This record gives sequence, C-alpha cells and structure tokens, in this order.
Amino acid sequence: AERGVANPELWPTAHSQGLIDPKTEAFITDLLTKMSLEEKVGQMVQGDTSATTPEDLRRYPLGSILAGGNSPPLGSDDRAPASDWIKAAQAFRAVSLEKRAGHTPIPVIFGVDAVHGNSNVVGATIFPHNSALGAARDPDLIRRIGAATAAETAAAGIDWAFAPTVAVPQDDRWGRAYEGYSESPDLVREYARAMVLGLQGEPADRGLIQKGHVAASVKHFLGDGGTKNGIDQGDTDVSEQDFIRIHGAGYPAAIDAGALTVMASYSSWQGVKMHGNHSLLTDVLKGRMGFEGFVVGDWNGHGQVPGCTEENCAAAILAGVDMLMAPASWKGIFNNTLEQVRSGKIAQARIDDAVRRILRVKAKLGLFENERPFEGRSNVLGSPEHRALAREAVRKTLVLLKNNGNVLPIKGSARVLVAGSGADDIGQQSGGWTLSWQGTGNKNSDFPNGQSIHAGLKEALERSGGSAELSVKGAFKTKPDVAIVVFGETPYAEMQGDIRTLEYQPGDKRDLALLQKLRKEGVPVVSVFLSGRPLWVNPELNASDAFVAAWLPGSEGGGIADVLIGDASGKPRNDFHGKLSFSWPQSAAQTNLNYGRQPYDPLFEYGYGLTYKDRRDVAALSEESGVGAADWNIDKYFAAGRLHAPWQFVVDPRNDKVLSVRNVDAGGVQEAGRQFVWSGTGKGSVALRGTAPIDVARQSNADLAVLVEYRVDARPTSSVQLALTCGDRCGSTLDLTPVLTAAPLGQWQK
Ligand code: BGC
Repeated sequence: AERGVANPELWPTAHSQGLIDPKTEAFITDLLTKMSLEEKVGQMVQGDTSATTPEDLRRYPLGSILAGGNSPPLGSDDRAPASDWIKAAQAFRAVSLEKRAGHTPIPVIFGVDAVHGNSNVVGATIFPHNSALGAARDPDLIRRIGAATAAETAAAGIDWAFAPTVAVPQDDRWGRAYEGYSESPDLVREYARAMVLGLQGEPADRGLIQKGHVAASVKHFLGDGGTKNGIDQGDTDVSEQDFIRIHGAGYPAAIDAGALTVMASYSSWQGVKMHGNHSLLTDVLKGRMGFEGFVVGDWNGHGQVPGCTEENCAAAILAGVDMLMAPASWKGIFNNTLEQVRSGKIAQARIDDAVRRILRVKAKLGLFENERPFEGRSNVLGSPEHRALAREAVRKTLVLLKNNGNVLPIKGSARVLVAGSGADDIGQQSGGWTLSWQGTGNKNSDFPNGQSIHAGLKEALERSGGSAELSVKGAFKTKPDVAIVVFGETPYAEMQGDIRTLEYQPGDKRDLALLQKLRKEGVPVVSVFLSGRPLWVNPELNASDAFVAAWLPGSEGGGIADVLIGDASGKPRNDFHGKLSFSWPQSAAQTNLNYGRQPYDPLFEYGYGLTYKDRRDVAALSEESGVGAADWNIDKYFAAGRLHAPWQFVVDPRNDKVLSVRNVDAGGVQEAGRQFVWSGTGKGSVALRGTAPIDVARQSNADLAVLVEYRVDARPTSSVQLALTCGDRCGSTLDLTPVLTAAPLGQWQK
C-alpha cells in the first residue's frame, strides 16, 4: 500500500481558485465530445524541441512542447536569439491549429525555464537568482520581476514559464539551493504569491490572463528542498507536520494567486516518489488545496516511479500527473498510455479530467484566440526598463557581511584594482539556467545587453574622477588605493551543484591565495563573493577588509558599483539593503543550519546584513573548517562500507574514466550532464573504492580521474542498470546485472 498522507486534516484547505466558470467549462465539454481518444492522450504528452518537430505533431497530436534546460529552439543552437524562438513557437502552433480532416484544432502550449528572466534567450534581461532575491525582502520587487520576465517570455512567443521554484532549502549542500528564495517558509510563502501574480498578472475577469503575461508553474511539488544530505532528487524524510509547515508553505499562496500549473518533484517523501503519490497530488493538491489547473511531471520524472519506464507509466497518471514531460520518449508514452486507456488500466474519466484541466489552462491563457500582441515586440527583450529593474534588484540583494575600518564605500575618485576570476564574466555572475542549462561558458559575448561587474565599476569610477584597472590575477604596477576581488562558485545546475560539505574551494584555495597576496602587498581588499548559497569562507573573510555576498546577480553587474562606489568625496550613493535569507555557517559541517531550528549557532544569522551606518568590525574567525580531513577522502567511506547502492558515477565521456563517485542514498538519480547513474537493487550489495582519494565536493571534475574498483558482497536481487546521460540529455542504459552476477563475491575487482 502506498505511504501517503496520514493526517489529511493537517493540510491547508482552499476555496475555489476562480478558474472554473460555466462558459469556459461548457466550451471544454463541447471540445471533449469532438476529440478522439488519441487527441485526448496527446494533450497529456509534452515533447522537447530537441526531439520533436512540428511535422511530428501531424501524426502525434501532442498538447505541449517544451524547450527545457539547454534545449535550443528548432534548427538553432543554444545561443538563439528571440527571432528563432518565435519561429519555433509559431511552427508548432501552426500545425496544432491546422484545419484538416480528423483533427480537432487545439493550440499547443509552449513552456521554457524562464527562471530568472527569460534566461534561454540571447539579449534577455537576466535577474538575480532566487537565493539573492530572498535578501531583498521585497515582494513588490519580486512581482515586478515576474511581470518583466513574463513580458520577455511572451515577446519570444512562449506561453509558459517553469517558475517559481518555491523550494525551502534546508541543506545548502543541495545543488539547487539557489533556486529557492529562503530557508524560511514565511518568506517563501510571501514570494510565491508575488511571483505568480507577476508572471500571470492580477487575475482578470473569469481568471483570464492578460496579454504579455504567461502561465506560471509552481515547483517542485513537494519537498524538493528537504532531501537528506541535500542530495538532488533524494528522499525528504520528515514528519507530515514539517512537510506541510516547511515545504508546503508556498503552495496555498501560489494557488490562491491563481497559479495555472504545478510541477511534480523528482524527490520522494518517506520513500515514495512524488510522481506516484496519489494522496499528495490528487487528495491534497487538487482536493484540499483546491488546485484547478494541471500538474505537469518533471523531465522524465514519471520514469522514476517504481514499475515505470520513461515510455510507460500509468501509475503517474493515476496518481494525478496530468501532463507527462517526456522530452524524447513522447512517442512511447503516447502509445502505451493509449493502450492502457483502451485496456481499462487507466479510466476514461481520469483522462477526461486531465484533459479538461489542460484545456482550462489553455483557455485562461487565451491560446484559443491565438492573438499575441507581445510576440516579436523588439522593445521588450532586454529593454532599458527591465535592465534598470534588474539593477535595482542587484542593489537590493547585496548583503554586507564585513566592513572593517569602513573600507566601504570606496571614494569615486579612487584608483581601484579589479581582480578575481569573476570580475569580468557575466556568465559566472548569472549562474546555472542561463543560456544553457548549466550556465553559459561564453563570458560576456553571450550577453549583448549585459554588464560585467568590472564594466560597472569602471563606469562609476570614471564618472567621478577615479579609475578601475582590470587584472584577474591581481597584478599591478602602481599601487592601487583598494582592490575589489570578485570570485566564487562557477555555474552549475541541479545535481552538478551538490556538494558534501559547505567549505568553499576545499583543498585548493586559489582565491584565498589571491586575497592574501594583495593584503601582503599592502592593498586593502574588498571581496565580492558570487555564490548560489552561503558557504564556509572564514579564511577568505579573514583575508578581506570588507566582504559582500553578491549571490548570483545576473546580467546587470552595474548594481554592485551603485552600492560599493560612493561619490568623489566618499559619500555613499546607495546603502546596503540586503538581509540574509539563508543562515551563514561558521563551520563547513553546519549543513542543516536553519533559522528556528535548535541548536542555532551561525556565523551570521538569518536577517543579518550590515549597512553603512553600522560601525562594527568582524573579529578574526576560526580557520578550522569543522570537518575532519578524512571527510574529504572518499576512501574513508569505502573503508567503513558506508557507500551503498544506488551509486552515482560522474564519468568523463571522452575516455570513460570515472571522475567521481558518490552515494546518492535513496532515490534514483536520472538526469545530469554526462553522468553515469547506478540505480536499483538492495542496499549493501555492492561496494566501491577508488585507487586515489576522490574529492567529492568538487564541482569541476575536469582534471580529476580515478580508477574505481568494485566488490560484490551479495548477489543483486533485481537488475542493476547503469544509465548514461550526456550533456544534451540523450541517454542509454547498460545492464550491469551479468557483471555483478558473475563477479566473485567479496573480492575487489577493477
Ligand atoms: C528540472 C525542472 C525543469 C525541467 C525542464 C528538470 O530537470 O528539474 O525544474 O523545469 O527540467 O527543463
């Protein structure tokens, strides 16, 4: 029996969302009578632009198209301008609306990950990521960002943004922590509502969405931010009370604001995969919370439900997923679902309910009218107004952690050395989900409208008689008055960003060395730290006179100069405003450090943030990470027999060398750039060890290669699959069962 909700009375109830009105429902009822079963099932399937063409829609009447992560629009690459997106959207739409025999014209709905601006389009305004926005404590700002994002998305011909993420990250080792606004459910609740209202607009008469707005997708339902050890797609093993109070916080607010879609989570709750959880998707979300829109699955998320594959999963539909995100497996899932309805495995009523919800959303979006006054508006994308808004957001999200001796603000007339690997790199400023899934690699050329942090500083300083000299490595001929060093995490997405402790640059303190060099040369140091989350940076804090948490600020780097650089006499032009929405650790081992939880002994508490009026210095900090050296060495885990299946291998596809291995605990991991994923079988049946210490906390594994040995302690009880997925998320599977069955027991093998 499914383990689901034990105490329904604990879950919030809602009144009607206001999306159901007699006229629209009658229109849908009429449409349903005209549609064939194929057309109904087709509405429930979503293909990806990387694996679906408009021509395909002639034979398979799919209801939706996405361009997920780094999928380009049709016939283009992943650095596509808006015109390519419009062309693709129009091509799919045209086929879906064709008048031809045996076809009911129903517009496709086209969705993208516009998660911090319409972040897949060259020239779009890139807003700070959500962990940054949390620091602004400004729901009105969030709402305006939502509206600007919607306008830039609609201008590119797209109907639907897979946002907002209302995760409440509880362990900052999670690679998606930056997609969450805060560790505090209260802040997430408020922001969830604001972002939905921004993206979709204030619901008009009969819940109709106004032009220039798009459908929101509140994600990931439910518990994505609570997985054990912060492991992406893992298990959130918390009580029902905590599940509701912490992870559920954003949903009632977002639903009340009219959210048209909700995306199911890859994670599981108490061991049950969310895509298969009937009691949560149907009883709670659609029942008690009164959600009237549709539930979309995550990228092949249905394939993770026990007994399912990517091409076959009645269980997800029966649990309450209305639309299956089946990027490349859409044909299989279409055929199999059709078969399951015909055989009675899936009731016709469930199909009609799912399709009704999908058509309702399409009607509310005005897709049947097919009028798009925003599409192609060239003055929307990256407009001066939107860039000014993003810059305002940058100013408001900076958190001043340290300002000893009031080294900040810097006089506008100063000679400033701008150093650090992040100083002149808009791609790094923007983080993951920008132009490509894991972040762009093309520094500034991909952001024709953007400004790097160095460019912003230079502009501000030169305006008031000062100067900014750029040297990433911190070299100088004349001694500068002060150095601003910009450094931090390089872009990652999803599980690529999972780390084992919170230490910044463990084992390789490149940036610390740069700070210390400048200090030694007698230059005051201001650190601007780019990161998706708080990290343990005590040594870097000690080596800096001032330290600013700038998060992942996006394309408008000039917002940093607005706050750091004063006028020619040194009077600030803008004060610091940001307050931490995530607690800052004083040890790298403080992995579950959350406001309201005991013990609570952060370095900088939730809500901390200095201003120019504060005159307190931060004393020297302990440089003990709090993590034993052995923790960096995976051998310890092997020796202790602590690594059990399922496993995750990160493999260099060029030479098949294993780059890193980690225990992903519960929950099969399916998707990531270039990763081998080992899933299935009983725990403890296989042990692995490396011939060299593996630094599992590294995000960039490019120069790390180890040979892994394995030992089979017990025969697998079911098949063990090694799945290969590559950067563009193509994939293949290798059955390891024969190898594991043949290997001698209890002996190490290579
Ligand atoms: C992510 C979702 C995203 C989807 C489409 C998944 O891997 O978990 O957040 O919306 O891909 O790109």
